[in-house]
Amino acid sequence: WAKAAGGARWALFDADRNRRELARYALSAAIPTALDRGEFYLDYQPLTSLRDGRVLGMEALVRWRHPELGVLRPDSFIGLAEETGLIVRLGGWVLAEACREAEGWSAGHDDPPFVSVNLAVRQVHRPGLVQEVRGVLRQTGLPPDRLQLEITESTMMSTAEEPVRALRVLADQGVRIAIDDFGTGYCNLAYLRDLPVTELKVAGEFVAGLRAPAADPGSRTDERILASLVSLAHALDLTVTAEGVETAEQADRLRAIGCDAGQGWHFGRPAPADRFLAQWA
Ligand code: C2E
Ligand code: MG
Ligand code: MG
Ligand code: MG
Repeated sequence: WAKAAGGARWALFDADRNRRELARYALSAAIPTALDRGEFYLDYQPLTSLRDGRVLGMEALVRWRHPELGVLRPDSFIGLAEETGLIVRLGGWVLAEACREAEGWSAGHDDPPFVSVNLAVRQVHRPGLVQEVRGVLRQTGLPPDRLQLEITESTMMSTAEEPVRALRVLADQGVRIAIDDFGTGYCNLAYLRDLPVTELKVAGEFVAGLRAPAADPGSRTDERILASLVSLAHALDLTVTAEGVETAEQADRLRAIGCDAGQGWHFGRPAPADRFLAQWA
């Protein structure tokens, strides 16, 4: 990771960073054992209809109950698991566990929420993705249209054809495909033409701008960007979920703009699924 040009200086002044990197690697190396010991678990966060307040789906967010460090959020281990490739095993566990839990949500309801699972770039580019997803759906009995896969724009940065083909096969079987953090990544809209996307999840940073009242000129710009993304999505027959909705005012403005769904602290912080089961019982 030391850039060639600044290498010497880095070695002198970045001992702290070195220690931090070593700690991250040690953490990553511990993932397989942690999987065996059942230290990972999933919290869920509702994707709520802005029209009628119904919970449409729930996003699975992985957590690590580390014996010494306490509960770790994904930002502290997902990135490294991607670099080392361990994300394939960890992500496989997340997918299977999320589908298993979601199958249980259907008891007694004719329209239970779907489960939305984050896929890392590596998982999407792996040859076995279609078989893996199909296998999990078969084993858990979850109908394909109750699974949504969240991929990021960076997943589609490469021109590889295999991931596009795999996602198309899954979409043909009814699996939903969402673009996560839309508007913050590499934005080559060509993938919207090539991919069987069903939903755009607009990044929370645009929504955060709605917090400030009209006095803040930036808030007007964010509102216009959001409105444009909503019309783009609707023109392509996609639904739009806004992420990071923290206040009732933001939810109101998003509803006025025509946004379909919201996710964020205003609707519920990530928690065990039971917390939200009551909302559609
Ligand atoms: P994401 O997929 O964009 O998930 C949304 C993140 O925003 C979650 O953080 C969630 O707790 C947080 N959030 C939700 N509502 C609000 C809000 O109103 N305000 C603010 N400020 N934040 C809010 P979390 O759980 O720490 O996850 C962070 C990221 O880690 C996720 O971003 C996702 O990229 C990644 N991640 C989580 N679980 C998995 C997984 O199983 N596999 C992979 N590959 N990545 C995962
Ligand atoms: Mg996500
Ligand atoms: Mg997101
Ligand atoms: Mg994010």
